Amino acid sequence: MTLRTLLPIVTLLLAAACSADPAAQTPAPPAAVSTTAPSEAEDERYALLRESMVSRQIESRGVEGPRVLQAMRTVPRHRFVLDSYLDAAYSDTALPIAEGQTISQPYIVALMSQLLQVEPGDRILEIGTGSGYQAAVLAEMGAEVFSAEVIPALAGSARELLDELGYSAVVTALRDGYFGWEEEAPFDAIIVTAAPDHVPPSLLTQVKPGGRVVIPVGPPGQTQTLWLMVQQNGKWVSYNQGAVIFVPLVGGP
Ligand code: SAH
Repeated sequence: MTLRTLLPIVTLLLAAACSADPAAQTPAPPAAVSTTAPSEAEDERYALLRESMVSRQIESRGVEGPRVLQAMRTVPRHRFVLDSYLDAAYSDTALPIAEGQTISQPYIVALMSQLLQVEPGDRILEIGTGSGYQAAVLAEMGAEVFSAEVIPALAGSARELLDELGYSAVVTALRDGYFGWEEEAPFDAIIVTAAPDHVPPSLLTQVKPGGRVVIPVGPPGQTQTLWLMVQQNGKWVSYNQGAVIFVPLVGGP
């Protein structure tokens, strides 16, 4: 091949490699394929992010329960956050949800789930459905979950999402969880995901003997203390789990 015949080929190759217009090189997708439907590749990307969230944020801080870790690897947290926070769905932080509320930091969700000592089939009451994420994690661990929420818009959107993701067995209700859920009591354990400034007395009467209550207690807008309360021989024993910040529990008498 002579230089004269080679030159046009080199020029053509260069033109293709330097083109700034991606449409010039990428064939358009067939019209029937939706570009908005979550692709398998996207699911895989989120699964990897969850895996890394579990090893870096949760296992590394001492949460070891296999069912907790498996649930945290499985529940698609990115579906429970606002679209504007999608990129931060698996980051080490709490995030805003609608109505001025928050979805807790993944580590706190995992820690509280572990403290509840969930056995498959346990009846668990959650106060503060919010996004529905914590309820989905507990359901994934095999619990029968009852979750109460006071804000109608959140109760509605969480219900829809839980159904869409196949967590239809989670029972939700629009009600003031300060008073627990008398009709469904007793529970094996209760988790409170908003902070009251005292432990609501009715919660302690709705737990089975040997049951657990995991609850942040403290003044609104300030650091609170996370407590694991365990009923032992008819008495409540409280274990301090450290400082946390939750949105305030509203309602009550
Ligand atoms: N567990 C939630 C976090 C929710 S933030 C999640 O995984 O996303 C706390 C929630 O508690 C808020 O949605 C708030 O509206 C709700 N809440 C506050 N006081 C409540 C009460 N008395 N009864 C039920 N829910 C309450």
